[in-house]
Amino acid sequence: MADSVTGNCLCGAVQYSCDADLEHAHACHCHMCQRAGGVSLSVKCVSPVKITGEENLRVYKSSEWGERLFCGNCGSSLVWRMQDYSLEFISTGTINTNPAIKFASQLFVDHKPAFYNFVEDTEMLTSADVAALYEDAGAGK
Ligand SMILES: [Zn+2]
Ligand SMILES: [Zn+2]
Repeated sequence: MADSVTGNCLCGAVQYSCDADLEHAHACHCHMCQRAGGVSLSVKCVSPVKITGEENLRVYKSSEWGERLFCGNCGSSLVWRMQDYSLEFISTGTINTNPAIKFASQLFVDHKPAFYNFVEDTEMLTSADVAALYEDAGAGK
């Protein structure tokens, strides 16, 4: 199921819209997300993300296949996507209204620092599980 959503960064300089699958939000505990500020929470887009205020957007290629989009003014993380745009995820905290979001899975649980745990009952995927999931897509994350 897809809902159309809009969102923006903390300072408002970058806005976006897309259709997203709000039923399956995931947390990513991977080392890269940790280094970028901490566990990330996001939902998958089912239509291309349309961005306004693009002159304020910065793109950081964090791996051979992935890139992270953030506001160059306030630093908010907005989007993680495959460099070929085949998969795009938006950060749940930047969505304007998000009452329908459901927490469904946690990725890279083997990278998760020991000092926190989420209490929600979700699917728990290790880095090996994630690699297997994305192998078909030629990714691997
Ligand atoms: Zn901003
Ligand atoms: Zn991550």
